[in-house]
Amino acid sequence: MTALRFDPTNLPPETAALRQEVRRFLAEERARGSWSPRGDFGTHPDPAFSRLIGARGWIGMTWPRAYGGHERSGLERYVVTEELLVSGAPVTAHWIADRQSGPLILRVGTEAQKQRFLPRIARGEIFFCIGMSEPDSGSDLVSIRTRGTKVDGGWRITGRKVWTSNAHISDYAITLVRTGPPEPDRHSGLSQFILDLKAPGVSIRPIRNLAGHHDFNEMVLDDVFLADDLLIGQPGDGWKQVTSELAFERSGPERFLSTYRLLAALVEQGGYDPDDRMAEQTGRFVAHLWALRGMSLSIAGMLQAGEAPNLEAACVKDLGNSFERAIPEVARLVAPTVPLPVPGANDDFAAIQAEAVLNAPSITLRGGTREILRGIIARGLGLR
Ligand SMILES: Cc1cc2nc3c(=O)[nH]c(=O)nc-3n(C[C@H](O)[C@H](O)[C@H](O)COP(=O)(O)OP(=O)(O)OC[C@H]3O[C@@H](n4cnc5c(N)ncnc54)[C@H](O)[C@@H]3O)c2cc1C
Repeated sequence: MTALRFDPTNLPPETAALRQEVRRFLAEERARGSWSPRGDFGTHPDPAFSRLIGARGWIGMTWPRAYGGHERSGLERYVVTEELLVSGAPVTAHWIADRQSGPLILRVGTEAQKQRFLPRIARGEIFFCIGMSEPDSGSDLVSIRTRGTKVDGGWRITGRKVWTSNAHISDYAITLVRTGPPEPDRHSGLSQFILDLKAPGVSIRPIRNLAGHHDFNEMVLDDVFLADDLLIGQPGDGWKQVTSELAFERSGPERFLSTYRLLAALVEQGGYDPDDRMAEQTGRFVAHLWALRGMSLSIAGMLQAGEAPNLEAACVKDLGNSFERAIPEVARLVAPTVPLPVPGANDDFAAIQAEAVLNAPSITLRGGTREILRGIIARGLGLR
């Protein structure tokens, strides 16, 4: 039986100065009117803000300088990420490229792909999204039907993707495609492509979410031609590549900080002398937050050491998502406010609460549902 491992990781002293640097930058830019706080990391793209972050060296922080990176440690990146999230900075536009697509290109891309894409990602000039889910394939991702057929000089891709977050503001989608038969097992025959979203045959249509916002999309791929140099990694290695991204995708602080702004506002509502119910609930949340942060930092430490703690990452995502969802539920019970979107007043408690209430249901779906994560954890622990 595998045991869960959460070795304590301490942030090295040099990260304290970096944290202050990020806070100063955010305060100065906010005073200048470059941004205003929002809640969820996935819902507020601001390409101009992403370029500012890129110019500070905070995208592609851990990548080699040769590809536009900054050769900082994973723990330094953790601190920057944490500060951007708790402040509610609009990080959406560059988020996927920084967290997932860039590291994938760095790991399995060709030299030409690294030179072509990574420096522009690091400058905040190009954005990526994830084309995995399809109308009948979400949790059972291996059943995707988007097909890639080899032709002279490249591939022809036909199919349909759904829930593609931010495809409408992105330049490329790392897209999972079936390019070969499911043999010797179902996980064989899948490949990943760097899909150029401006290529002929790509249509992107909005899907409005519960809040009425246009965050995700349907992508229809109608005989799209992709040159050979847009295949990422080896043909047939798609599944292996997708699963190797999971510890990065599931363990970061965005998996428990999506409704942090509401928690901070709730503590403020309670003031210096909160009633017993408010004190008990906010105290419990803060204690949970500290434990989750310790677990997430531990994974960051293991990733930094070159390990792949997928099981631990699934635990952090499951516990972290439950935490994020509980905050608006409890806020509703302990604060005498009606959640209400207030156009132009997103600092208002009711507006912060409304955003959290409307986003909460999606938190346990994106990046793998609760049931799927618990299945992974059970299998990892030898329980199924
Ligand atoms: C806000 C948001 C953003 C997203 N962004 C993207 C994106 O950018 N790119 C992308 O590719 N996808 C994205 N998704 C899609 C997301 O990955 C899927 O919604 C998710 O994987 C679930 O797939 P599904 O919606 O098809 O649900 P289904 O797989 O049909 O699941 C429906 C229900 O059945 C349960 N279930 C399914 N299989 C099992 C099982 N074996 N055992 C127990 N229970 C099971 C699930 O847990 C769920 O509760 C996003 C989703 C959301 C909500």
